[in-house]
Amino acid sequence: MSDFRYQTALAAAHVHALEWLGSLHTRTLPPRVDDAVIAGSLGELPDGPEDAAATIDLLAERMEPGLTGIGSGRFFGFVMGGAHPAALAADWLVSAWDQNAAMRATTPATAAAEETAGRWVLDLLGLPRGASVGFATGATMANFVGILAARGELLRRAGWDLDRGMVGAPPIRVLAGAQVHLSPEAALRYAGLPQPELVAADRQSRMIPAALEAALATAPGQPTIVLLQAGDIHSGDSDPFAELIPIAHRHGAWVHVDGAIGLWQAASPALRHLVAGVELADSWTTDAHKTLNVPYDCGLVIVRDERAHRAATAMHGPYIDDFNDGHGQPFDYVPEMSRRARGVPVWAVLRSLGRQGVVDLVDRMALRARRLAEGIAAIPGATVLNNVVFTQASIVFESDETTRRVVAAILDEGEVWMSGSEWQGRIVLRISVSNWQTSEDDVERSIAAVARAVALVGAGVG
Ligand SMILES: *Cc1c(COP(=O)(O)O)cnc(C)c1O
Repeated sequence: MSDFRYQTALAAAHVHALEWLGSLHTRTLPPRVDDAVIAGSLGELPDGPEDAAATIDLLAERMEPGLTGIGSGRFFGFVMGGAHPAALAADWLVSAWDQNAAMRATTPATAAAEETAGRWVLDLLGLPRGASVGFATGATMANFVGILAARGELLRRAGWDLDRGMVGAPPIRVLAGAQVHLSPEAALRYAGLPQPELVAADRQSRMIPAALEAALATAPGQPTIVLLQAGDIHSGDSDPFAELIPIAHRHGAWVHVDGAIGLWQAASPALRHLVAGVELADSWTTDAHKTLNVPYDCGLVIVRDERAHRAATAMHGPYIDDFNDGHGQPFDYVPEMSRRARGVPVWAVLRSLGRQGVVDLVDRMALRARRLAEGIAAIPGATVLNNVVFTQASIVFESDETTRRVVAAILDEGEVWMSGSEWQGRIVLRISVSNWQTSEDDVERSIAAVARAVALVGAGVG
């Protein structure tokens, strides 16, 4: 009986999933209704039980008008990846297996798959073999853990025991590039650390080494975290790590790299020069749900010094320590006790792509972004502000007002999805190519859609 219920509910989900995925090639990408409409259609709590499959049918039917086509090859909004088939299917199994991926003795299979995936990621990205890897919900939590590891280690070196709390602790200084993302700034707040002092960056958002040197020289000996980034959300470019990290280390600072987008360049022989020296850092963040196209949610935190990592997030206590075999436990590396085995889809996508497939994935995104920017640059009135080195392009039109209208017209038509943003004091149309499926055809269709929006806005402005 219960088996049968699983069968009909999962079969219904399977049908709806394939319908949704199939619709991504042709559908209008923005949602057709807002959340209030969906809430209205979902609002009634029935008095009694309902068949699980019927619930799934109802859910799919009611949700569909309010979904965004994020998985489409013509979705370029924010920085959002699609879902590779192997990763998505593995994610279904993770839910069906329902393992609490905390301790290796109780869930040895998920521990082994995640540890294997972690080793593969270190290998692909050229990061130190002995570094520890935690599978967090995303780059924000990964940044948080990296910053916690930094905080704990800097305070330990200063002779402060964190079990006493932060009140009265030696003050930690934080330096970041002028274009630091909101995510590490939030992580600093969670960690009770000050907002970063901003170090000058160039037009590609790359921190200027002489400016870092000068900033560090103002407070010699103070415990300091230097936040760098691989893959700026507007330029796609990365900090010059090979110059910056030795400077930071000469001053005793801990270097954390937010590589949510850009760390994957290290896997590509054609792109890796853009992140040269990134392996010298002390901790790194990257996302799996962006470039790697694992379904939400999954981000990775990587720490060179495993001891500092575990000191930041591991739990201790009688019934847990019984399971401790001397190796770290999967839940030692993220601030969660119970969690899904979100590293398993990472194993699946890497296994399915293979080494060359990862290179092709990353290279293809960069190639499509360059072509997209080139095609849009040829539209009268459009200017690409950045040097498109990776997946990101930021475009302006004659005025901020025109750019705003172009973005609105693009979303209104719905053939493609692109975000508005603000960069270098201008309103920009921002593009991120982060989907494994974005094809040459998607790119040409998208250039045509932007041209239509520009024509429409031009006609309206007169
Ligand atoms: C997306 C992004 C983040 C935040 O990642 P989440 O996975 O959404 O938490 C942090 N930093 C950069 C550079 C990003 O692009």
